[in-house]
Amino acid sequence: MERHDVIVVGGGPAGANAGREAAAHGADVLVIEQGIPREDRDDLGPDSTDAAGMLDYWVDIMELDPAEIPEEIILQELDSTEFIGPNESVILRTTGMDATYDKFGFTFHRARMDDWMRERAEAEGANYVVGRSVKHVETDLDGAPRHVVELADGEELAADAVILADGPQRRVTLQVLEGFLPAGHSALERMAPTNANHIAYQEYRRFPEEAFEPTVLKFWWGYIPGETAYPWVFPNDDPVARVGLTMPIGMDLNDFDDPTSYVLIDEDDTAIPNGATYIDRLLHNVYGGRYDIDADFPRVPDRGKRGGVETYAISSTRPIDSPVEAGIAIAGGAMGTTSAFHEGGYHVATRSGSIAGRLAAQGALDRYNRAWKEAIGDEILRNVSFADLVKDYGPADWDRAFATARKMQGEDDDRLIERIWTAGFPAIKVYLGYKWRKRTYRNGKYVQLTEDEYVY
Ligand SMILES: Cc1cc2nc3c(=O)[nH]c(=O)nc-3n(C[C@H](O)[C@H](O)[C@H](O)COP(=O)(O)OP(=O)(O)OC[C@H]3O[C@@H](n4cnc5c(N)ncnc54)[C@H](O)[C@@H]3O)c2cc1C
Repeated sequence: MERHDVIVVGGGPAGANAGREAAAHGADVLVIEQGIPREDRDDLGPDSTDAAGMLDYWVDIMELDPAEIPEEIILQELDSTEFIGPNESVILRTTGMDATYDKFGFTFHRARMDDWMRERAEAEGANYVVGRSVKHVETDLDGAPRHVVELADGEELAADAVILADGPQRRVTLQVLEGFLPAGHSALERMAPTNANHIAYQEYRRFPEEAFEPTVLKFWWGYIPGETAYPWVFPNDDPVARVGLTMPIGMDLNDFDDPTSYVLIDEDDTAIPNGATYIDRLLHNVYGGRYDIDADFPRVPDRGKRGGVETYAISSTRPIDSPVEAGIAIAGGAMGTTSAFHEGGYHVATRSGSIAGRLAAQGALDRYNRAWKEAIGDEILRNVSFADLVKDYGPADWDRAFATARKMQGEDDDRLIERIWTAGFPAIKVYLGYKWRKRTYRNGKYVQLTEDEYVY
């Protein structure tokens, strides 16, 4: 049986960086990526969700020097983000965080970024295979090596340590967790994709030159019902933008007291509209007065996964600790690092993967749960607290929050990103609510499955 020091399941940002760091620290590491076809990549590659925005301080969280990112990866340099409610809006021109990258952020070509992450891993000596899928991981705590990784084609591989970076669907992660949790443990249900995740849908649209805003990310809140449900426009290469949305899975319109208070819900809707309908309504709502949407905002078919459209699951839950005593680390979307609030997760996936890879190579995975909290705990704490704070916001709440935030913008403020989101009604009450949540979740209490719950 082929044997490796470390096997990594999944070759996205978490997996590629786990492979890179493991190799850099002397391990014989194999990254296994099932491989997904895309219109904008010649060969199979990781499941590169192209909705890629990066804020300035996220580059530091990834431990990247901005100067080393190849030019062809960055699509647009951003100077702001705009949050738009039904009647109010606010433009944020700084994240308020210390950062090496000197602009507000950038949008990037996700497939190229993922491919670069893979190249960096291979340059360090990691083995990265595409087109093979992991079916199962069998662990024998007394075994040497401890893990047998079974592939879909039946081949078995052995490893001393396993890093699960299989993204928000958690096909392998959930099976592995079952082996270390009592039957019926609530975390298994909470982490199931249908409960823990959102769906995301997006279309590539060519914009009229004068409507294309290359330096701004735009988000519409209070437009569609659901917790952390919102449409967006992200600028790609001129003048193509991704128009997308995210929303929880399996909602019912009857769950909402006043569904028509949401801008993109029509009087005669009897169910939550699908993604394509929402995108069409958003474009008509925002640009319809000036343009013929079908003619002036055509879909760009040679982009994305297929036909200029992409649908994804998105991890939208709180993170979990890993069963490190068994020599297993879970990283990135699989462990729930993607923010339930703004869906950003590339940075925390990259960093958690790097940490897992390094510690696996050093035979020190027992330090993983502490180490990832030290590195990305502040970011997770912010995201979890924000998501919690706004989870019941309706259209009127968003308007109030944006109006207050706009008024506050003149103030001398080095934590503007926090203040913006806490400037609701009245601002001080919401700010205290945010502080209280942060206190509630501090010292890692945002973790929804802790190390001591595993049974070996
Ligand atoms: C629509 C959308 C918009 C987003 N926008 C942003 C954004 O603007 N900025 C940002 O920072 N983040 C964004 N994110 C979040 C970001 O994409 C994730 O946080 C990030 O991809 C997580 O990385 P990962 O490596 O953990 O998982 P993934 O990127 O999901 O990678 C997991 C990999 O594992 C592979 N895999 C799965 N199962 C197996 C198996 N059994 N065998 C072999 N391989 C397997 C998959 O093919 C995949 O390539 C967005 C996500 C979505 C869905």
